[in-house]
This record gives sequence, structure tokens and C-alpha cells, in this order.
Amino acid sequence: MKRPEPSLDKLHMLDERGSRRYLYPAEVSGRFSNLRPLVFAILIAVYVSLPWITVGGQPAVFIDIAARRFFLFGRTFNAQDLYLAFFILTGVGFLLILAAALFGRVWCGWACPQTVFLEGIFRRIERLIEGPASHRQALARGPLTVEKILRKLLLHTVYLLLSYVLAHLLLAYFVSAAQLLRMIKEGPKAHLSTFLWGVGITVALYWNFFWFREQLCLIVCPYGRLQSVMQDRDTIVIGYDKRRGEPRGKVKQEGVGDCVDCRRCVAVCPTDIDIRNGLQMECIGCAGCIDACDEIMVKLGRKKGLIRYDSERALTTGTRKFLRPRMYLYSALGALGLTVATTLFVRHTAFESNFLHARGASYVLDGELVRNQLLVHLINKNATPSVLSLQSLAVEPMTLIIPLPEVPLDSLASIEVPVIASLPRASYRPGMRVSLQVFDRTSQTDRVIDVAFMGPNTEPTSGVPTR
Ligand code: SF4
Ligand code: SF4
Repeated sequence: MKRPEPSLDKLHMLDERGSRRYLYPAEVSGRFSNLRPLVFAILIAVYVSLPWITVGGQPAVFIDIAARRFFLFGRTFNAQDLYLAFFILTGVGFLLILAAALFGRVWCGWACPQTVFLEGIFRRIERLIEGPASHRQALARGPLTVEKILRKLLLHTVYLLLSYVLAHLLLAYFVSAAQLLRMIKEGPKAHLSTFLWGVGITVALYWNFFWFREQLCLIVCPYGRLQSVMQDRDTIVIGYDKRRGEPRGKVKQEGVGDCVDCRRCVAVCPTDIDIRNGLQMECIGCAGCIDACDEIMVKLGRKKGLIRYDSERALTTGTRKFLRPRMYLYSALGALGLTVATTLFVRHTAFESNFLHARGASYVLDGELVRNQLLVHLINKNATPSVLSLQSLAVEPMTLIIPLPEVPLDSLASIEVPVIASLPRASYRPGMRVSLQVFDRTSQTDRVIDVAFMGPNTEPTSGVPTR
């Protein structure tokens, strides 16, 4: 059956009845097709190894939803550190927008997990078991033979096993690798909810990588949909040089362009579009058509690059403009978000301490003494239990009573320690402050915290921590 011609007038992945057509993109080799597996291998290695690497006794990345904490390269964060996520997301988000404005769908074609796993693992296994695209297509359309049953059985068994492994790797980010191994050992009965999550993710991955595939990029992913607002005529995209290629014609035909209408660029496209129709939303920037066309150009002894990375402006007028005002804006916003996030990350302390007035009267007069009832709010943000010590820094004649000077705390546990500050009434002056030092034994770091000392003729401001 002849393959239908892609056009801009209809969704090409749909057949005449509106059903989705399963695609069999042809194999291609070349500069980009050889480089992509290397990039994929590095990204997969990072993804697979992160939950198993430990920093300071904890996984390098561990999103412990159950305990509402997050371990990131030796630092522990709790729900109160959520503001950090805002700066990280802002920084990464603007850098992604910058990448899209500069290089189009470079993320989609080279680094998106959907592309990395589909092209880097699943499609390769498919080629290994069922052969090149023409064989796979013939096998799918052919009658049910013993060979077909065996090949399909093997393919789907491997797909399911791989999905199972990937699902467990994903779970390791949320329950930690050590805990996951323990859960697997103890069996599904002992950890039913995690087991059901594992089964659900396995089925979703299997369905996605076997069946849904490019549909995720075309109809689900919001990043793909937003491309049109992030790109302009100067964005470097994958494009066809119409000025050089048209009118297309046969190899030896006179008066025609360089495109010989071989349709190799269409055959290798994983979303089944014809890039010669211009930039389309369905193009995920895989660069397969560049390699396919270069292969043909080399065979014909013509210059490579009929399809290439270039801007729409350069492809139509020959002029290029790489830096535009919006690039500076995106770079500045991305750099700002990441600088704030990095600063907060580096300065992230192993414990939190706030000094505040207890509820009720801001001070009491006890004979000739003024007393303030205070509280020290402590959170241990180490990944392990720790002991926090409180030491008075009050200057005579002020005295501090600290009933619990050594505070043992589990990781991310918090406590409010009462402290009583006293001062002879005659020595009281407005604006005085009470200080103490908090020392964390695990990180061997300390911090001085203070709060206003309240007395007669002082405006009440108790309850607001100051430091
Ligand atoms: S691969 Fe190149 S020569 Fe062949 S149809 Fe596509 S653009 Fe034309
Ligand atoms: S048009 Fe080219 S770059 Fe875009 S998805 Fe198809 S093969 Fe990949």
C-alpha cells in the first residue's frame, strides 16, 4: 500500500477513518544520528545512577513525599524550604525558554525523557528483534505466522521487563533505593500501595513506549504547544532550504533544484511529516531528516545542508540574526532565578532557629525584676538525628534561664524550647535585646539569634521573631 503524502491540510498521523496510524520510521545514520545515542547514554546513566549514589549517608536525590522532605546532594529540605523550588523552577524554566528561542526544539530532540527512552532504548530493541522499518511494517501487516508470534512475544516481554525496571527506578526517587530493595525483598503484601504504584507506572510506561509514542509530543506535551510563542523567525530550527531545493525534480533533469524528491526525509521522520512543507508543530527536532538528506546529497555529489539547522529568516533571505532583545531578557531572568537558588542552596543551614516571645503578656513585673517568657523554635535539617545546644549570650545584669540547654532532635523534627530572660527594672532601657547561641553538633555550625527584650513603656511587638 502506498504511503500517503504528508501535507499541511490534515493531521497526517490519522488515516481516512480518523484512526491513528502506527509509524515505522526508517533507520538513518549520519552526524546527528550518531551523536544522539551518546547523549542518550549519558542522560540514561545519570537517571539510573542518581538514586544509588549517596552523599552524606543519604541518596543524592530523594523526594521523600511520605515524610515531606527532600534530599538533594547532601542537603535536606522540608516543606518550609518550598520557596527554593520557586527560584529553581524560575531559573530552569527561563533557560528552557531561552533554549527554545535560540535553538527551537533542541530539548525535545536531544534531552526529553520521552525521546531519550523511546529512541535510546525501545526503538533500538524493536529494530533488533523485528528488523528494519520495512520488515517491521511487513510483519505487522502480514498473516499470523509462528515467526510473527514468536517475535511479538519476545518484543513485548522485553518491553514489559524494561518498563518494570524503569518504573522501579522512578520509584527509587520517591522511596530511596535502599528502601526499594527492602520492599522488593519483603514482597508486595507488606507494601501494597508502593507495589500498586509500581504496577501502574509499569503499565503506563509500556503503553506509552509501545503504543502512544509520538502522540505524547503531539497532543499531550504543553512544551511542544508553546513553541510557537517562544520561537521567532531568527530561531535556529531544522528547516528545508526551498531556495536551493525547489523546484524539485529528477536527478538529471534540467532547470530543477537540488531536491530529487526521494522522500528519504519523510521516511525517517518519527512524526511522519514532510519538513519541505515548512516548520510544523509536529517536528520534534530529532535531526533525522538532516542526516537522511545529507546522505542523498553526498551520493549525488551535491553540497550537504539542503535540510539543516538554520533560522527561517536565513532559509528564506540568507540573513541571520542570532542575538535579539528577548534573548537578553530570558538570559537575565534565568540567571537571576538560578543565582538566587544557588545562593540559597549554598547558604542552606543544617538547622533552623527562631527566637520569639511566648503567647500572652509581653513582659511581667516580678518585684524589682522584669521578666520575658521566650521560646526558641528549633528544626533539625540534618539528614540524621542531632543535638542542638543553647548557650546564653546575655550580658550582666540580664540573666537567661534555659531549662533544656541540650536538645536531641530527629532529622527534620522540631521543638519549642522555653527560655526566661530577667533584668532588674532599673537597668531596663527600651531597645534592649536578648541573644543566645545555637550550636549543631552534627554539622558543627552555630548561629546567634536574638529578640527584643520587652519592658515597661515599650510598644508590644512580641511574637515576631527578630534576629
Ligand atoms: S531527502 Fe533531501 S532530496 Fe530527498 S526528498 Fe528530502 S529534501 Fe529532497
Ligand atoms: S521533520 Fe526532521 S527533525 Fe522534525 S521530527 Fe521529522 S525527521 Fe525529526
